[in-house]
Amino acid sequence: MEYSYLFDLDATITKKEILPALADSIGIGDVMKKMTEKTMMGEIPFAESFSKRVEMLSVIPVSKAREIIAGIPLHEELVSFIKENSDRCYVVTGNLDVWISGLMEKIGISKDHCLCSKARLDENGDKLLGIDKIIDKGRAIAAIPHPFAAVGDGDNDAEMIAAADIGIGFGAVRNVAMSLLNNATHAVYTEEKLCRLLRAIASKVSYPSDADLKKTIVISCAGMGTRLGVGCTKALVSVAGKPLLLRQLELLKDYDDIRIVVGYQYEKVIEMVLGYRKDVTFVFNHNYKNTGTGDSFLKGAAHGRDMVVALDGDLLVHPDDLNTVLECPDECIGGTTPGTDNPVLMSVMIKEDGQEYVTEFSRQRGKYEWTGLMQMKKEHLGLTTGHVYFLLEPRLPMKMIFIRTREIDTMDDYKNAVRWIENGYKD
Ligand SMILES: [Mg+2]
Repeated sequence: MEYSYLFDLDATITKKEILPALADSIGIGDVMKKMTEKTMMGEIPFAESFSKRVEMLSVIPVSKAREIIAGIPLHEELVSFIKENSDRCYVVTGNLDVWISGLMEKIGISKDHCLCSKARLDENGDKLLGIDKIIDKGRAIAAIPHPFAAVGDGDNDAEMIAAADIGIGFGAVRNVAMSLLNNATHAVYTEEKLCRLLRAIASKVSYPSDADLKKTIVISCAGMGTRLGVGCTKALVSVAGKPLLLRQLELLKDYDDIRIVVGYQYEKVIEMVLGYRKDVTFVFNHNYKNTGTGDSFLKGAAHGRDMVVALDGDLLVHPDDLNTVLECPDECIGGTTPGTDNPVLMSVMIKEDGQEYVTEFSRQRGKYEWTGLMQMKKEHLGLTTGHVYFLLEPRLPMKMIFIRTREIDTMDDYKNAVRWIENGYKD
């Protein structure tokens, strides 16, 4: 089934909010900006705020407003996507039809694909008399057939995002409203990442790349990791001065398609990651309490590259060993010496090439412990909401790569891990 695409306008297609730009022309930009921000964060109901703001701006002739809007910078790569797929794209905006009709023409959106608020004009058509209808985005999109992807940033986009099959929070211009993220499947913070994701959804081919390292890396950070008892998700636990997840990102700096699956305390994880790099795709597993890492991984791998890597956000792995897995051209599984309380074990066999291959996962027997690190071809992924290794079982035997790791479940583990890092990963 081909997707349709729904876009918010302000701060999604445009690089600036439209109403504050209009307000600047009559010297009330600051007031307008504050009201707009509060509205987008959900502090003032949209309809009430919009009426007030339009009233303040109604002194501006419509022709002048259209001229100002024509000068507002746009996310040009996104506009290209819209032009290329215009028969499947819709703009869903609170803005007034009379103000934005020229802009819609410019980006290739026809009248019946622009769902917006309607204004009343005087007989000359240049003076705004009032608002006929303020759009309710949630209702306006009811007629659009599924499946559809929706992109937005504000509180008034939350319903549209919740209704979408793929709901994307886009934070290139400003913070995305929490009400939206609570209903989103993805969040991206650069135009490039948004467009790559949209193109992967649209073409149903591999995630576009201009890098040599054509892998999608999915880091699972959705779970609560409560056993350590430090009050935050384990990926954020600082080990020797740096959160575990940040240590992983530093090792992955050359990879361009990193998906971080978030759930518990997602806002903290996103904030920490954005402080380091913005070009990460966040994928939500809001149901992290009832699903396993397999579910998180599959959500992250969707619309990814042909080879997908699974990595747990709380796994501390020797940098050299992580590289060995990442540089391996084949499907493979990372195993280590058994050491945790309740390990998933792996039996192996040696093949003609002298390599060990995993033949079985088991709680009872096996030479190595499963680490959560593996890479697999996307076309071989099945379905599970349980553990990641359930996805591997139908593909066994599969090459095993030994990796040195530290699992951090207890305070003793934690101290061990700190020592390991401080010793330069020497045992
Ligand atoms: Mg917006």
